[in-house]
Amino acid sequence: MSPESSKPSHPELVKELAGKSTAWQGAGRSFSLRLNLWYTGFLLIALGALYGVAYYFIAATLQQRDRDIALDRVRLCIVWYNEGGVPLLQQRLNGLAAAERDSFFVRLSNPRQNIFYSQTSSGEAIDQRRLGALPAASEPDVAHFVLIPAHDPNRIWSAAAATTSDGTWLQAGLLTENRARFLERFRLLFLIGLVPTILLGFCGGAIITHRALLPLRQLVATIRSIISTGDMRARVPAPSNGDELDDLVTLFNRMLDRNESLIYGMRAALDNVAHDLRTPVTRLRGTAELALQSPENAEALREALADCVEESDRVSTMLMTLMDISEAETGTMRLNRVEVDLGKLVESVVDLYDIIAEEKEITVATDLPAGVILHADRVRLQQVVANLLDNALKYTPQKGNVSLAIRAEGAQVVLTVQDSGEGISAEDLPRIWNRLFRGDASRTQRGLGLGLSFVRAIVTAHGGLVTVESHLGKGSLFTVKLPV
Ligand code: ADP
Repeated sequence: MSPESSKPSHPELVKELAGKSTAWQGAGRSFSLRLNLWYTGFLLIALGALYGVAYYFIAATLQQRDRDIALDRVRLCIVWYNEGGVPLLQQRLNGLAAAERDSFFVRLSNPRQNIFYSQTSSGEAIDQRRLGALPAASEPDVAHFVLIPAHDPNRIWSAAAATTSDGTWLQAGLLTENRARFLERFRLLFLIGLVPTILLGFCGGAIITHRALLPLRQLVATIRSIISTGDMRARVPAPSNGDELDDLVTLFNRMLDRNESLIYGMRAALDNVAHDLRTPVTRLRGTAELALQSPENAEALREALADCVEESDRVSTMLMTLMDISEAETGTMRLNRVEVDLGKLVESVVDLYDIIAEEKEITVATDLPAGVILHADRVRLQQVVANLLDNALKYTPQKGNVSLAIRAEGAQVVLTVQDSGEGISAEDLPRIWNRLFRGDASRTQRGLGLGLSFVRAIVTAHGGLVTVESHLGKGSLFTVKLPV
């Protein structure tokens, strides 16, 4: 097995690193732990609030019930007393004592608080001192209420007091279940139930946050893998949930794609330039070496130096053009797109070549309707037109014709450059776009063999297409189509 094959693949590496990062820089600083603690804290607060509200309502309802029981009893006794005085009250209470299981008491006193009647249905004694503290009601029909602890801690006296129609103070009460004990059990139950609930919430939260943060861990792992291996091919596995983290991962992967293609593009551009410059630099060196072999010949030295200067100028022009071509081909060229009036742009280029055309007595005809507008890089577009016109003039003999025309064609604009020149052989036709290609017949002309590859790279970078039709001895027609 080769050493390469034992290495984990990228997705595996990412998964491995993502798994490792669950320990994530120490539990104390872990983001997921902090998130979970926050979540558990809020759960605790929510449970506490729910319990508080429930406890308050239950306690209030129970107390209201005790109060109602005592007040009903007082009102009943007052009715009996008002109807038939102590004898009727006594009679009815005897009936109640026989029928009811729960203990009760009734006490009558005059306004100076001298008790003149008291009845208790069972042996359970009520705390007389606390009962004495139950205030007398100043008006009939107004009652006061109090809870008095009984001997049995599970029971309690619900006592109330009111004034009868003759001004007698009537106190009555029932021994009922001690609701405080129930509430105490309720509190205990809450505390016992709270621990497993919080534990369950914490564990559930830990699982959920761990799962939810998986894309983030994979993101971190991918970045780590890129930093440690320098391999730009690593990608974060896409979760495809359609949520915010999914967006983050997708955008991050897209950014990596873009960076990768830029880096590879720049590498390719560098390789191409290095490769294409090798020949002229070798030529430069050859010229210098040859001159050094006969240093006594001053004239030859001077010529060699002049050649070297010329060659180095060519090299630097070539270098810049090659860089431009490579950048345009690899998509790393920055296009400063603005609104361009193509007619005006072509006209300005034609003006620049006026003198050359006049020198060769070539007629340059133009058909440039106004209002053919497109979004493009003005400078680059000028270079495209200049290169095509330069070739047309260069490869057209004296007194020939060159014509330039533009037209709008749907979502495209079309530029044509036609000449009546020497034309291109069918054999050369597919090769004219290659870098550094020069037709045999063109060697007598100035040129680097980069003009058309530059044109094609720029047009392609704009999303357009350049084509050629040519017949040897008849002339050539170059057509550039650019999206608006
Ligand atoms: P250069 O003009 O510097 O040689 P180009 O890349 O512009 O380089 O052109 C490549 C080749 O294509 C030229 O050498 C020439 O042979 C051919 N060519 C380009 N344009 C024309 C034209 N208008 N007419 C005839 N041949 C052309």
